[in-house]
Amino acid sequence: MNFKEKIRVVMDFPEPGIRFKDITTLLKDGEAFQAAINQLAGSFKDQQIDLVVGPEARGFAVGAPVAYALGAGFIPVRKPGKLPAETIRHQYSLEYGHDALEVHKDAILPGQRVLIVDDLLATGGTTLATIALIEELGGEVAGITFMIELSYLQGRERLAGYNVVSLVSY
Ligand code: 5GP
Repeated sequence: MNFKEKIRVVMDFPEPGIRFKDITTLLKDGEAFQAAINQLAGSFKDQQIDLVVGPEARGFAVGAPVAYALGAGFIPVRKPGKLPAETIRHQYSLEYGHDALEVHKDAILPGQRVLIVDDLLATGGTTLATIALIEELGGEVAGITFMIELSYLQGRERLAGYNVVSLVSY
């Protein structure tokens, strides 16, 4: 399956100069969606994954079916104020200003093996914040997987030491 063919590139979104990789065109194609999820899950099927963690919002669309395929649980990571029960928070820097992510305090037990799933790896900031939350709760990051990797932003270098797998790379 040529996944790149299914991903739409939108010029100047959300800002001038950005070539946004739009996965909605892949998700709406049943055959491509199934093949992509099977390939992402397949790389980790022998890794005894207990939980898949997906950052909102596209990490839900990709992470939940990967969790289902692996027979693992799914844990949402969200922007502040969205999760109803007690949470922990990790703040991280953006180009301008800060952002933060939260997870439920009881979402992960010490020693559980966790796979992080998101649609796209850019600078790695979102993933590093997600790793910080998982490790603070005592989870073990057994792998990290993306549909898309923007290799020219060198996010993979910032994730050195972790097992990073992506479907397609630009
Ligand atoms: P990072 O934190 O690695 O710099 O950025 C990755 C996050 O930004 C991911 O959660 C991803 O959903 C979002 N993102 C950044 N650029 C794009 C893009 O071109 N396409 C899509 N689908 N998501 C993007």
